Amino acid sequence: RAKKEAGGEIVFYDRRMDEASRDRSALAMELRQALARGEFELRYQPQTSLGDGAVIAYEALIRWRHPERGLLAPDAFIPVAESTGLIRDIGAWVLHAACREAAAWIEPVGVAVNVAPVQLAQSDFVELVRDALLASGLEAGRLELEVTEASMIADHEQLRAVMIELKAIGVRVAMDDYGAGYASLAALRSFPFDKIKIDRGFVESLGRDPQSLAIVRSTLLLGRALSIPVLAEGISSEDGLRFLREEGCTEGQGFLFGRPIEAEAVRRRMGMAPAGPAASPPPDAGAS
Ligand code: C2E
Ligand code: MG
Ligand code: MG
Ligand code: MG
Repeated sequence: RAKKEAGGEIVFYDRRMDEASRDRSALAMELRQALARGEFELRYQPQTSLGDGAVIAYEALIRWRHPERGLLAPDAFIPVAESTGLIRDIGAWVLHAACREAAAWIEPVGVAVNVAPVQLAQSDFVELVRDALLASGLEAGRLELEVTEASMIADHEQLRAVMIELKAIGVRVAMDDYGAGYASLAALRSFPFDKIKIDRGFVESLGRDPQSLAIVRSTLLLGRALSIPVLAEGISSEDGLRFLREEGCTEGQGFLFGRPIEAEAVRRRMGMAPAGPAASPPPDAGAS
């Protein structure tokens, strides 16, 4: 009887695997169309100086306005985009769109763009960045790329070369989700990062988890010792903010300061007139 049950489970499992891969290829096809149809949008979340509360930069975060399923968060499609290679084209769109938007801002704050590991490994990645800067007219010093340590698994020498080239043109590179992966420290040693972004998982649980508190505290010390600024992600409470300030953290991001907002809302905050119709999608139905 146990055997039968086990057998049943295996069949069930196999069928699910099958469905999952069918879903994945359907999604891949949809993603390709989405790019062609202009269904992707960017939201912008402020990164704030904990000293004076000023916005230092906005992080561009992708959304997919799916014709049937509504506004989708990146977790719903970025993994498939990465595994199918579509992230190259989507990522190129993101980079161009974010640079174009930031170049139009009347406040010269920075713009942070997430870059997937496979993008960084592309032989023409630096070329793409240069193109986006040229096409938009954005100063290189206002662009920061956010990469996770997953990017660092591939060919170290090639990645180092890419980062050094980026630095040479004046673009900064931040390590995103610091501490969430297995090799954050090793990556920090091997690559010349300009910023450390502490993963929001640690920041969110600061108040109730002594381990998180110790990790955040030691990351701040590490940043200081290495002369690399540290930004805390996911700040959502005044208590968290107070603690981070006391520990000498200088930059933060999180719902406490602001959720990701539409490009149009960023412009409004800067006192700018609305952009043309192409840049003003219909009012957001909810997901941020
Ligand atoms: P990330 O780069 O670490 O971005 C921060 C994520 O945390 C965003 O989720 C943001 O909305 C969320 N967040 C910010 N503050 C808070 C907070 O106080 N509390 C909570 N609970 N969440 C907060 P989002 O926009 O869903 O993005 C998820 C991830 O998707 C990003 O994590 C990034 O890894 C990836 N991603 C987003 N846009 C792009 C893109 O254009 N290209 C690539 N390759 N990846 C992207
Ligand atoms: Mg990021
Ligand atoms: Mg992050
Ligand atoms: Mg993340």
